[in-house]
Amino acid sequence: MIIDKSDIIENTQIAEGIWRMVFKSVEIADRYLGAGQFVSVLTDDNWEHPIRRPMSIADVNEDKISIIYKVFGSVTQALTKLKSKDYIDVLGPIGNTFNVDYDTFYPILIGGGIGLSPILNLSKCLVQKGISITTIIGAKTSKEHFLQHNPNKNMFLSTDDGTIGINGTVIDALNIVLKGVKNPKIFACGPEPMLFSIQKILEEKSIPAQFSVESYMACGVGFCQGCVIPKKQNNEYYLVCKDGPVFEANEVKFE
Ligand SMILES: Cc1cc2nc3c(=O)[nH]c(=O)nc-3n(C[C@H](O)[C@H](O)[C@H](O)COP(=O)(O)OP(=O)(O)OC[C@H]3O[C@@H](n4cnc5c(N)ncnc54)[C@H](O)[C@@H]3O)c2cc1C
Repeated sequence: MIIDKSDIIENTQIAEGIWRMVFKSVEIADRYLGAGQFVSVLTDDNWEHPIRRPMSIADVNEDKISIIYKVFGSVTQALTKLKSKDYIDVLGPIGNTFNVDYDTFYPILIGGGIGLSPILNLSKCLVQKGISITTIIGAKTSKEHFLQHNPNKNMFLSTDDGTIGINGTVIDALNIVLKGVKNPKIFACGPEPMLFSIQKILEEKSIPAQFSVESYMACGVGFCQGCVIPKKQNNEYYLVCKDGPVFEANEVKFE
């Protein structure tokens, strides 16, 4: 991984509170291994924002890297102020990648909230390879969606308030999708309660899965130890930044 002061090409609001930023980094793009990896960004040299924030890579197109972010607090708010031709300080690429054994399994991709970012990246890679997939993207309400609900093309949106797509969470959508799929394997990213609920379904139905885990973290390189997640098998812990962010679903425990 390297640190690069990358030129911003585009920074646009794409839904309510959701932005896409595209920046140029030849060196990070060269080192990029695949969907699941993330970068960690510093918005500016302001002492008020001294800690980097992890952001999943949503797309890599030659030397152009996209992230999709939701405005949560001060750093993501500051990100929205950046414009084309400004620069952003980016550390990356960090972490491992999804491992899709699509010869054996039918991939079901699930992104909840801002967890959609690595899922859309993975979806694009699989579609480019001609692999059939089903994608489920969940949000609280239609205003947070920027994609089209299209079950005929195996793209399912869900909303907690029922304003678009399946009325409910990604779990409601998953239960519908699972009825029509043989030999599924799930690839999911989203808030821990969502991953926990999916994990329970997987255990009941013996379905394999990989999760990309978005724990709160400070350094992204293993120093701060802030992003620990318990191992399922014993009382030890993984570091999401160094051991993940992608884990087999049966390796991690959500508390
Ligand atoms: C590997 C990884 C990939 C990520 N990818 C993305 C991405 O693609 N797009 C995106 O928008 N965000 C992503 N995140 C989350 C993002 O890094 C945080 O939302 C970030 O901290 C926001 O910074 P902020 O200063 O705006 O808000 P902060 O002030 O840091 O946070 C505001 C509040 O939001 C809540 N919060 C923030 N982050 C988290 C979290 N990870 N888990 C639970 N609660 C949280 C906390 O309650 C906090 O008080 C990712 C995190 C990880 C670990």
